[in-house]
Amino acid sequence: MKLVVRVKLLPTPLQAAALEATLHACNGAATWAAQVAFERDARRPLGLRKHAYAEIRERWGLGAQAAQHAIKKACDAYTTLKANLRGGRYGRPGTKRHTRALSKPVVFRPEAAQPYDDRMLSWQHQTRTVSIWTTAGRLKGVVFTGQAEQLAVLAEYRQGESDLVRQGGEWFLIATCELPENTLNAHPVGFVGVDLGIVNIAVTSDGECHSGRRINRQRENDRALRSKLQKKGTKSAKRRAKKRASKEARRNKDINHKISKRIVAEAERTGRGIALEELTGIRERARLSKPQRTTLHSWPFAQLGSFIAYKAKKAGVPVVHVNPAYTSQECSQCHHTARSNRPSQARFACKVCGFVEHADHNSSHNISRRGWMAWVCGARSTAPALMLVA
Ligand SMILES: [Zn+2]
Repeated sequence: MKLVVRVKLLPTPLQAAALEATLHACNGAATWAAQVAFERDARRPLGLRKHAYAEIRERWGLGAQAAQHAIKKACDAYTTLKANLRGGRYGRPGTKRHTRALSKPVVFRPEAAQPYDDRMLSWQHQTRTVSIWTTAGRLKGVVFTGQAEQLAVLAEYRQGESDLVRQGGEWFLIATCELPENTLNAHPVGFVGVDLGIVNIAVTSDGECHSGRRINRQRENDRALRSKLQKKGTKSAKRRAKKRASKEARRNKDINHKISKRIVAEAERTGRGIALEELTGIRERARLSKPQRTTLHSWPFAQLGSFIAYKAKKAGVPVVHVNPAYTSQECSQCHHTARSNRPSQARFACKVCGFVEHADHNSSHNISRRGWMAWVCGARSTAPALMLVA
């Protein structure tokens, strides 16, 4: 399976300046190449090379590899544009948007991602540094950092090109890794149902509960501080607020990695699959008071779901997504479904059979059963083909 790992570069100011100049030069060259391609109607690498290669090398100071990449990038952009035009993304032929998209050359942002192949970029995993080509010569010993788990994957399974990107003033390398995966367990003996929520981040049908209390409190504190800093409006306050936000995102990601790891390991150990709710449902069905609403929308549910999906795929554990409708109102014993079964946020009490349980546990049993039903009815394991996990 393909996996995308993102590592952060920690360049010295001098190195950062070289990276910036390089990114600008590469994108400047690609924009110019795209213009040549447009004017001369040479939108394939072989044809465009004849017109653009020598000048790109000279005028933009790009090495042989980088010049090739600039040409390829321009050509790829036209291929994408063509596909989009054909696919109707710019409306029908003859409309204003369609005509406009056709009538001018492609332009690249100065800081658009730049692909690096193994000749332009080499990784030294032991020292956590890269050696990277720039227009100012090759930079050696540029330090990178990332989560331990991701770095291990990177060291073992990286393949092909990586992209240099700048996001929010920071430098990253995005590398593609090709991971081996276990063969899918085609005969699961059951499904672990996972209920995702706010008060409890994840509750499984095995009774395992990952509480969100500590995190939610921390998040509230962070949000209060952030909005205070933003109100202040000074540059340093904004910077601090930003730092705070990325720290919060990092911590959440960490938690999601841990929860997903446990859930998948347990399913694998017991020969079961995993049933999750379709994630769109979580936001739509929730009727909440305002402070809770912000908690819900900023909580990376999608991330936890996708972490579970990719770890499951790697382990060969089947994953099914079930319809989330009424999982919280349905009795997991007699299946009587009514809003009145749920006297409070935390409690489930069936009006018909009298079954009483913690509400999230009851939901997770419903999800587990729906997963099993879907599987028996021919559902396939659903895990995305390409995941960004870092
Ligand atoms: Zn009941």
